[in-house]
Amino acid sequence: MRLIGHRASGTITVTLKWDRCNWTSRMYRLMHGLGKTRRLAQNEARIKMEEMVIGKRSETIADHIEASGISRRRFLEFCAVLVAMAPSGLALTKKASALEVAQKIGASKRPSVIWLHFQDCTGCTESLLHASRPDIADLIFNVISLDYHETFMAASGYQAEEALRHAVEENNGNFILVVEGSIPTRENGAYMKLAGRPALEVLRDTGSKAALVVAIGSCASWGGIPSADPNPTGALGVDSILANKAVVNLPGCPPNPYNFLSVLLEYSTMHRIPALDEYHRPKFAYDRLIHEDCPRRGHFDAGRFAGVFGDEGHRQGWCLYKLGCKGPVTHAPCSTMHFNETPGVWPIGIGAPCAGCTEKATAFRIPIFQTVDIHSITPPEALPAIDARAGSIGVAAATTVGAIAGAAATAAMIASRRLPDSKRIRAIQKSEDTTKPRNKDIDLEGR
Ligand code: SF4
Repeated sequence: MRLIGHRASGTITVTLKWDRCNWTSRMYRLMHGLGKTRRLAQNEARIKMEEMVIGKRSETIADHIEASGISRRRFLEFCAVLVAMAPSGLALTKKASALEVAQKIGASKRPSVIWLHFQDCTGCTESLLHASRPDIADLIFNVISLDYHETFMAASGYQAEEALRHAVEENNGNFILVVEGSIPTRENGAYMKLAGRPALEVLRDTGSKAALVVAIGSCASWGGIPSADPNPTGALGVDSILANKAVVNLPGCPPNPYNFLSVLLEYSTMHRIPALDEYHRPKFAYDRLIHEDCPRRGHFDAGRFAGVFGDEGHRQGWCLYKLGCKGPVTHAPCSTMHFNETPGVWPIGIGAPCAGCTEKATAFRIPIFQTVDIHSITPPEALPAIDARAGSIGVAAATTVGAIAGAAATAAMIASRRLPDSKRIRAIQKSEDTTKPRNKDIDLEGR
């Protein structure tokens, strides 16, 4: 309270006090709920709030960690987990040594992150909250400085607007802007207003002062659900509006939170953005098709398909291609990095066909149960080829498979356990004709 009085006066003082109480207790509850000890959670929440209120930010991540009372051992553990989790293709984890990564991270400044919501469902934020390696508390309090996020903050109305203005002014030209949701552009952006201003104007204004823009989710990347035909609000993705800015697209509905964390750390420690593909997606995460690593791929190759939901093939865990699975044309790491820290939790893992949400022309454009054309089908005697130009799996990625995506291994194991004997397979195929393709353009049987 003494520090607040030293810096501010009048109405602002009252506002900051109010913010402080709400933020502290909210952050404390968040961290305590994620398994921190009571004292550590209280300490970290207090330090974060003092920084927010008095504008004092530790110089480097190492400084901040030391000031938070976190031991060197715990920080190294954090870095070791990071090395294990980070995908290949990042300069930060290329050497794959926890000590080197720790030195790099420790010497870096905590990047200021401002997170704006537009036409969204908050699913991307929800997905981030379920990350636990590193967990969201580690992320917020030690590695980045999350200076504005409408879902996490208790402030609203004038308080929220003041917080945004303050965060942008303090970090002008240096912050990372994260955008969640699509931006309505029809009628000069009249379909969505923030504090009386069109959302379009808020994005242009805030985006022009950012160092890097990250469009998180399919909506922010290219419009997503709000842009589905007939697109009444004229919803567009961020890079269509901020054409002159560096924009990284992380499509997905929701995207995997580890891809987001990897981009942030690469930028703040190595001062570069990862290599991007033609749709501005980081290649480290989006260079392989879901189909290439799908645990049901064996069934596809063998011609075993679920014909309708709930049939014997579906219950046996067979390929979902004929139910409309877009895995063969969708670039994303979903088949090796699952969600909510639970092995097998991803659409195909729970028996739902992939909707193709990371592709600009697939999800929300092609009906969900319609099959997609598969190009270059290879005859069954020479199993469908995997594009040799696709990214290789490095040491870190191999560790990832062991760590997170024990998921994929578990799913594959479950699939193989469910594999019935050939006599049973023939009986199922005979009774349900599961090998007959629905799409006339594709002759799977003739492969
Ligand atoms: Fe490919 Fe989808 Fe079948 Fe998996 S379920 S093998 S991604 S078509």
